[in-house]
Amino acid sequence: MYDGLLIVLSGPSGAGKGTIHDKLLKILPNIKKSISVTTRKKRINEIEGVHYYFKTEEEYSQMIADGEFLETASVYCHNYGTPKAPVFEMLKNGNDVIFEIDNFGSRQIKKKYPDALTIYIMPPSFKELESRLIARGTESADSLATRLGNAKRELSEYNDFDYIVFNDDADVAAEKVVAIIRAEKCRMNRNEHIIKGMLKNKK
Ligand code: 5GP
Repeated sequence: MYDGLLIVLSGPSGAGKGTIHDKLLKILPNIKKSISVTTRKKRINEIEGVHYYFKTEEEYSQMIADGEFLETASVYCHNYGTPKAPVFEMLKNGNDVIFEIDNFGSRQIKKKYPDALTIYIMPPSFKELESRLIARGTESADSLATRLGNAKRELSEYNDFDYIVFNDDADVAAEKVVAIIRAEKCRMNRNEHIIKGMLKNKK
């Protein structure tokens, strides 16, 4: 229907998907980010409508009832969801759309849109994941233990994804993701309609 790609970036907390996501937005010209809705509290430095749309549980439930989400998930006891309408608006305007969401959300998108490109960002090791989470300083001791425990389960779902990128160095990892996106856009089946048009019109 649209030429734009749906690009899903997933990975456990501390793998660095947020950093890579921000780098992609700077490197690739036609890429737009999907802004999720969440019921969790706004962190210091987060901006409404830039990082998330922060909603109450009631507002979130109403959005579900109104069928406004492409996918939803509950992560660390908070609700998250991808609003559908802006995604189709961005695709209609000729953009690729990138989602930074959890494994469960990625599976929902892949099921609805098998053409979506799903990329898993892996930490180089558990030890490194732990150091990054500690250095981030946003987690309490309890939350840190939960996130590390969950990371093990999440990593075991690696084979749900089209590509795996190890993030030792964020610049190198971002370059790899850019290469994947560029190659993906050259796939024969994504370009067949253009070639058929050329053959038909002889232009
Ligand atoms: P955080 O609260 O730390 O920003 O995000 C926690 C987790 O929720 C991350 O793994 C993030 O990728 C995921 N997440 C954020 N927004 C969405 C969303 O709209 N859908 C899903 N499925 N996961 C999301």
